[in-house]
Amino acid sequence: MEEIFIQTEEQRAILESVRRFVEEEVTPRAAMLDSSPDPEDGFSWEIVEAADAFGLRTMALSEDYGGMGTDSLTTAMVVEELGKGDLGISVVFAQTLKIAQIMEKALNEEQKQRALIPFVEDPRAILSICITEPENASNYLVPYPSSFNTKAEKQGDGWVVNGMKHFISNSNRSRFFLVFVQTDKDKPFTEGSTCFLLERGHPGFTVGRVHDKMGERLANNSELFFEDCFIPDENVVGQVNGGLKTLGEFFPQSNAYAGASILGVAVACYEKSLNWAQNRVQGGKPLIEHDGIRAQLSEMKMLIDASRAYIHRAAYLADHQEHGWDPTLGALPKVMASQAAWKIATWTLEIHGGHGYMKEAGVEKLLRDAAAFLHSDGVNRTLLLRAANFMEW
Ligand SMILES: Cc1cc2nc3c(=O)[nH]c(=O)nc-3n(C[C@H](O)[C@H](O)[C@H](O)COP(=O)(O)OP(=O)(O)OC[C@H]3O[C@@H](n4cnc5c(N)ncnc54)[C@H](O)[C@@H]3O)c2cc1C
Repeated sequence: MEEIFIQTEEQRAILESVRRFVEEEVTPRAAMLDSSPDPEDGFSWEIVEAADAFGLRTMALSEDYGGMGTDSLTTAMVVEELGKGDLGISVVFAQTLKIAQIMEKALNEEQKQRALIPFVEDPRAILSICITEPENASNYLVPYPSSFNTKAEKQGDGWVVNGMKHFISNSNRSRFFLVFVQTDKDKPFTEGSTCFLLERGHPGFTVGRVHDKMGERLANNSELFFEDCFIPDENVVGQVNGGLKTLGEFFPQSNAYAGASILGVAVACYEKSLNWAQNRVQGGKPLIEHDGIRAQLSEMKMLIDASRAYIHRAAYLADHQEHGWDPTLGALPKVMASQAAWKIATWTLEIHGGHGYMKEAGVEKLLRDAAAFLHSDGVNRTLLLRAANFMEW
C-alpha cells in the first residue's frame, strides 16, 4: 500500500512531462479558448495532438496496445496535474484515458481490432461514454427502477436504436463512443440496458447542440441523436442487457479520476491564493503575515491533502480490489474533492479582495471551473445517496 503515499521514479518522470506539456501547450492558450463565445471554439485539436505526441492520450493502455500501462493511481496523478493547468483539458483526457482502459478490458478481440487499434493510431482520436439523457441522470445512479428512453428494437442480426443522450463530454469531437441503450423495455436500467460500441459517422447517429457551459470550456459537451440507427450485434460490448454491469465491473476508478480533475482546480486556486498573499500588502505587511489569512491557507491545504489521499486510495484499490475495495470509493472521493474545490475557489476570491472579482485576475475562470464537478459525474447529493445504498447500517 506504500504506493499510495510515495511517488515512484517513473511517476515523477511522467508528471514532469505532463507539467511541461501544461506549461508549453495549455497555459498559453487556456484564457483565450475559455473566452470564446461559441462553446465549440473552446476546444483545441492542437492541444490534443501535442498530448498525443508524448504519449499522454494512450498512456493508460497496456504496452501491447502502444500505451505505457499506467495504473489507475498514476493516471489519477496525471489527471490532477492536467486539472491544475485547465479543467477542460483534464476532462478531455480523463474521459479518453478511462474509456480506453474500459475498452481494453471489455471489448472482444475483433472489436479491439476495429476500434482500439484505430484509436491508438489516430492522434486526434478521443472518446466518449454516453449514458445521461434528458429524463434520466440521477435515476441510473441511485438507481431508481426506471429505464432509458434511448431504446433498441431487435431486428435481424442487430438493433434499431431511437432516442437521444445529452451533456456528453467530448461527444461532438470523439471518434469512438460507448453508448447505453434500453434493449429490454420491460426491465429497469440495471437488467435491461446494453452497452454498444459506435464510431463517429455511423448512419443514423448524429451530433446535436454543443452545450454552452459556464465553465470547463476547453472541453466540449453535446447532445447525440439516434434515428432508426441500425447497430449490428457485433457492436454489443459485454452481455446483452448487462450494460450497467459491464460499467460497474470495468469502471471502478471513474469517480477517482473525476475527483482528480477537480482537485487540480483546487490546487490552482491554492497556489494563486498563496502567491497573492505573499505579494499583496495591507495593514503594513504582506497578507501572508496576517494570522487569519495563514489559517485560511492551511485549511485549503488540509482539504486538498485529505481529498488527494481519498482519491489515491480509491484509484489504488480499484486496481487491487483484493486488498479491500469498498463500493463507496466509487462514489465519494469526487464528492469530497468537488466540495473542497468549491470552498477553496470562493476563499480564493475572498483572499484576492476586489481584485479577484475583476476578470483579469483569473480567479473568475477558476470559480466557474470549480462549480463543474458539483454536478458532473453524478450530482453530489445523488452520489451520497448512492454510497448510502452500499452501506450496511
Ligand atoms: C460538465 C458535465 C459533463 C458531463 N459528462 C457526461 C458524460 O460524459 N456522459 C454522461 O453520460 N453524462 C455526463 N454528464 C451528466 C451528469 O452525470 C449528470 O448531469 C448528472 O448525473 C446530473 O443530471 P441532471 O442534471 O439530470 O440532474 P437530476 O438527476 O435531475 O438531479 C437534480 C437534483 O435532484 C436530486 N435528485 C435526483 N434524484 C434524487 C433522488 N432519488 N433522491 C434525492 N435527490 C435526488 C439530485 O441530487 C440533484 O440535486 C455530464 C454533466 C455535466 C454537467
